[in-house]
Amino acid sequence: MGLPLPVRVPVSVRSHPRGEDVASLTTRGRGEAMRLDGPLTDRYGRVHDDLRISVTDRCNLRCVYCMPEVGMTFQPPSALLSFDEIVRVATLAYSLGVRSLRLTGGEPLVRKSLVSLVARLSAVGFGDLSMTTNGMLLAPQVRALAEAGLTRVNISCDSLRPERFNAIRRRGDLATVLASMDAVERARLSPLKVNVVILHGVNDDEILDFASFARDTGRIVRFIEFMPLDAQGTWDKGQLVPGREIYERISARWPLERIDVDSSAPAERFRFSDGRGEIGLISSVSEPFCGTCNRLRLTSDGAIRNCLFSNDELSIRDLMREGAGDDELALLLRRAVWQKLPGHAINEPDFLRPARSMSMIGG
Ligand code: SAM
Ligand code: SF4
Repeated sequence: MGLPLPVRVPVSVRSHPRGEDVASLTTRGRGEAMRLDGPLTDRYGRVHDDLRISVTDRCNLRCVYCMPEVGMTFQPPSALLSFDEIVRVATLAYSLGVRSLRLTGGEPLVRKSLVSLVARLSAVGFGDLSMTTNGMLLAPQVRALAEAGLTRVNISCDSLRPERFNAIRRRGDLATVLASMDAVERARLSPLKVNVVILHGVNDDEILDFASFARDTGRIVRFIEFMPLDAQGTWDKGQLVPGREIYERISARWPLERIDVDSSAPAERFRFSDGRGEIGLISSVSEPFCGTCNRLRLTSDGAIRNCLFSNDELSIRDLMREGAGDDELALLLRRAVWQKLPGHAINEPDFLRPARSMSMIGG
């Protein structure tokens, strides 16, 4: 694995559509009217009840598939949403039918006082309040997070071999991440999910090790395909290992059975046929699940995005800072959902990478 060159990553947030009249929003596209009541529904009938909130674009690690080792630029503090602003958007989203909330980043735990934000979001009523973290700062605060209302945790871990972990994540260490997994379970935030990005020729020889880890620990290991969202912009399809191949390699050793539960979940879930453990496959590139997508995203600088791969986003932060009322903010959320495209089109020849990378959007 060669060292990447320093890169500067441009940030662009589109302005919000203030000033557009409601009539023009309700009559745009396919001749259909955008709904101004009920749940957040797009023009393809997908109901959006899941909000991903990025609390920061900063991170204490530099994973090779996510960020360059040096040269990453971050938002100035004044650009970030305050906790009051985050809670305001979340409360509004709740009133529009959103019931599932995930905190992410960057690394969410590098943002100070996250426990207090979790407590405030839990008080809104979100029964499903989860976090995706790299696990480096988690153990000392996991109990407080659970007491504040956090219900689930996903920890990212791309290798079970200490030296390789260091090569992929560049900072941090495997022992601390494994200790965080134990702490999550002691805090009764089970079952813990472990996210693994499998890269061809880098860690694909650990697929069976991770399957074995899932069988031995009861942790749900989710294999994620490498997506064209690295800040370096060096993604190419040859680096990803398709979910289908991962399935075949694991099931040849330990037969798997599909678990059909929630059709909107991105992971295809499988249990081992002998009853020992579960894995998930997130095949975002090779087998997109856009048709059942129920997700909306709020970036750390207050942009609403309807898709990880979208080239369009609306700044709810600017609207709030201009003194907009909740009705105006709700309209922006509805519009963002209404504008969602049927799919991300990664596999189309004219696919255009979004200007923002994964850590800037919130994975
Ligand atoms: N820093 C936290 C972490 O790593 O868990 C949360 C944010 S991170 C952006 C969320 C998830 O996105 C992680 O599981 C990470 O492995 C994954 N990820 C980051 N870049 C990716 C890429 N280019 N393709 C696929 N997954 C990626
Ligand atoms: Fe940081 Fe998460 Fe990106 Fe790794 S994947 S660099 S931990 S934001």
